[in-house]
Amino acid sequence: MQKLEIDHLTKHYWLERYGREVLALDDITLSVGDGEFMAIVGPSGCGKTTLLNIVAGLLPYEIGAVRIDGKRTEGPGIDRAVVFQHASLLPWRTISGNIRYGMEMQRRFDEATMRERADYFLKLVGLAGFGHHYPSELSGGMQQRCNLARALAADPAVLLMDEPFAALDAQTREFMQAELLKIWTKARKTVLFITHQINEAVYLADRVAVLSARPGRLKQVFRIPFERPRTLHLKRDPRFLEIEDAIWRLIEEEAERIGMVLAGDETSAGTPPLPAITAGFDV
Ligand code: ADP
Ligand code: MG
Repeated sequence: MQKLEIDHLTKHYWLERYGREVLALDDITLSVGDGEFMAIVGPSGCGKTTLLNIVAGLLPYEIGAVRIDGKRTEGPGIDRAVVFQHASLLPWRTISGNIRYGMEMQRRFDEATMRERADYFLKLVGLAGFGHHYPSELSGGMQQRCNLARALAADPAVLLMDEPFAALDAQTREFMQAELLKIWTKARKTVLFITHQINEAVYLADRVAVLSARPGRLKQVFRIPFERPRTLHLKRDPRFLEIEDAIWRLIEEEAERIGMVLAGDETSAGTPPLPAITAGFDV
């Protein structure tokens, strides 16, 4: 059986201000196998976060179904943990304390087990020795490692990640991708990973699902054939570049589709030129 099933999921948002609905996701069907790493890419605004939030149980849905281990999800649950773009750690708790937080909320483990698991995941994400530090004493990349440890320590069936490295600088981001793969190999969780960066998706995932521009529809799913462990050198392999290029072309098609809509947009057509600056600044 599939670990996570998204079954004909359709999501509308109600726009109060305009008194109408907007279609964000249109009939998405996608399954993720046990221990599989699935990435979802698509142009900005195509509904990636909406999809992830629905799977997380943070957003209601009416049409279609989301199932984990065959059971329909109703709101958030301990079978899922989410890692967002910002680590949002509790500033008054130490790094160890933050890693414990998810477990404490669940009330599933006793004190000794929580301590043991916090230590284990602290080491797994490469933060051994930082357990007694506070989040403000750590770099962005280290904070995001802590966030990941917090999610993994809670032992979810499915790990959900929404652009978790988007706020990091380019170099740290590359290292974090390699690090995530190492951690994932050990933890072997089912992962749904959202990103708009194609090479991040191809490097990390077993399969990459491409969504169309809004409303998000499933355009194509690519199986990524590269063996693991994967190193960052893989990103320069011609076969890697070929897949990246194929996905990019699909997304470009979508961008063009939206671009055509924008070209016919009357609202910006009559915009007057910016007035010339006549006065100088007082210094
Ligand atoms: P992505 O993560 O792919 O950038 P989102 O899931 O954030 O896309 O948004 C998908 C579409 O739904 C966007 O067009 C966005 O404007 C719209 N949307 C997102 N959240 C809301 C909301 N709470 N109310 C109305 N529209 C929303
Ligand atoms: Mg988003």
